[in-house]
Amino acid sequence: MLAETADGLYCSAGRFHIDPWQPVERALITHAHGDHARPGSAAYLCTNETVPLLRRRFGPDAPLESLKYGETRTIGDVRVSFHPAGHVLGSAQIRIEGEQGVWVAAGDYKRAADPTCAAFEPVRCDTFITESTFGLPIYRWDPTEIVIAEILSWWAANREADKSSVIFCYTLGKAQRLLAELARVSDAPVFVHGMMLGMIDAYREAGVSLPEVQTVIERAKPRGEKRSLAGELVLAPLSARGTPWMRRLGVHSDAFASGLMRVRGVRRQRAYDKGFVISDHADWPALLTTIAETGASRVLATHGYAEPLARHLSSLGLDSGVIRTAWEGEPSGD
Ligand SMILES: [Zn+2]
Ligand SMILES: [Zn+2]
Repeated sequence: MLAETADGLYCSAGRFHIDPWQPVERALITHAHGDHARPGSAAYLCTNETVPLLRRRFGPDAPLESLKYGETRTIGDVRVSFHPAGHVLGSAQIRIEGEQGVWVAAGDYKRAADPTCAAFEPVRCDTFITESTFGLPIYRWDPTEIVIAEILSWWAANREADKSSVIFCYTLGKAQRLLAELARVSDAPVFVHGMMLGMIDAYREAGVSLPEVQTVIERAKPRGEKRSLAGELVLAPLSARGTPWMRRLGVHSDAFASGLMRVRGVRRQRAYDKGFVISDHADWPALLTTIAETGASRVLATHGYAEPLARHLSSLGLDSGVIRTAWEGEPSGD
């Protein structure tokens, strides 16, 4: 049903690609992260919620069509539908039904609750294409409320020391999730880097309720006034690290919010003061639970630790394999 090609996964019965790496005739997009949604294709199909995000990335004239979760569209000789993946706003597993049975390409997904997107729904299938970004047994996530409590106490300690707190995180997904989670337990305003406003607005356009934010730019120091960001919490994209913008923060402590922070060596190597282990990807137990819930007899793993996961699945008696990806950088939204 789906074959690996130079442009990515291709469905010849429907003549479309899923998350292609190059411009193609018709691209079905699982979600709006840059390693899945590339510009230049002649036609795109995605979920309704993904539309405002792709408009921000591709421009207002991009040829986007969209479906509701669960709505079916016949394309060529197959029937296609999108089902919630719980990864970021609009993220979807793509179900394809045709002569060769039912395939599901899950894209990126997570099982932890996220107030900014629809929860993952297991979909029964014959062949399941799973992500494996964190496909090693060491990757296990704590409950979100524990991580949020850690953030609050770190922020409080920095405030006590008259420092500002900056958390680096992905602009699409992680930033909105942190804002929504923090708003549940704290009334204190959160600041964001100006580069984050576009995607925050896109979430609001799609109907996600997020707390008001202030940008660090907005709070430019009026001349002669000694207003500083001491004691405040600021969310910033990774690309802002080490730029002159950082001077606005004054004396600060920095952190990275990512599943990558599970590995202490990574935190040390990147010299963050603090790491918060919160991920928009499934951890090891969630990968295995999800694969079992699909009932699939064949599982193909892609991204990150695909080979170790496939080996483990083979040892459980599943027919398993690996799908290569052109993306060898870090996963976005990790
Ligand atoms: Zn992603
Ligand atoms: Zn990805």
